Amino acid sequence: MTGRTLLTVLLVLLSPAALAAPVKVVASFSVLGDIVRQIAGDHADVITLVGPNGDAHTFDPSPADAAKLADAALVVSNGLGLDGWLERLAKSADYKGAVAVASDGIQARHMTEVEGSTKKEVTDPHAWQNLQNGVIYVRNIEAALEMADPTNATAYKHAAEKYTSELLALDAEIRLAFTAVPKAKRRVITSHDAFGYFGAAYGVDFLAPEGISTETEPSAGDVAKLVDQIRAEHIKSLFIENMTDARLVTIIGKETGAVVGGTLYSDALSPPDGPAPTYIAMFKNNVPKLIEGMARN
Ligand SMILES: [Zn+2]
Repeated sequence: MTGRTLLTVLLVLLSPAALAAPVKVVASFSVLGDIVRQIAGDHADVITLVGPNGDAHTFDPSPADAAKLADAALVVSNGLGLDGWLERLAKSADYKGAVAVASDGIQARHMTEVEGSTKKEVTDPHAWQNLQNGVIYVRNIEAALEMADPTNATAYKHAAEKYTSELLALDAEIRLAFTAVPKAKRRVITSHDAFGYFGAAYGVDFLAPEGISTETEPSAGDVAKLVDQIRAEHIKSLFIENMTDARLVTIIGKETGAVVGGTLYSDALSPPDGPAPTYIAMFKNNVPKLIEGMARN
């Protein structure tokens, strides 16, 4: 090798692009982890705190989770009250870097929940269940990645554009699929209120014994009321969620004759070898199951 060739090789090896190791990005839960991966590709190492089939509502971070924030260039949260623990975790880890809130700019849904004699207004955090909100998540995450790692901004922009068109195509496909089901049949029971945004976007009515968080157990009275409603309105379409206890749904099925139509992926993805390892696969798993279940109503 001549001196000049050696110099060229060294210069190439030392160029910023070749030296740039992937940036570390920490996402609060698996849906966000996948969205980050789709946009960042090989340019980021993505760590997900609440993994596949995990429940972000009840997650209790450990010191080991705090250690995961060390050297992170970016932390991505859902916001809307799903992952409020992330703020405490960032503080205990002394994390000083950027925190992106994926749901920024989304029109949040609110619900009134009754607990005994008290009524409270609660914000629904499950915004990702409407793919058009997913597009806003992509925009926010893309902008945060570009700030955290400007060297790869063009790659992030291109990947986000391509991914956004995939999400919008799927959104249109799902809208079309539900129009084939008569409005009166579009009623479904799940374990907790994770599908408010989905229902509003795609015209499906969801009922659940548990509220928008899995933190509080439903009372016997709540369950009895729901059982009465299911019987009176002849709803036969009932689903388990991947990240909640299946027992309550199974009991409701026995009490009412509603048929358990399988598992919906609501607040978490499946492991890589499962039916919903990505955000897109989550919808591709859920929609045909919902349509099949609603046919029984
Ligand atoms: Zn939830």
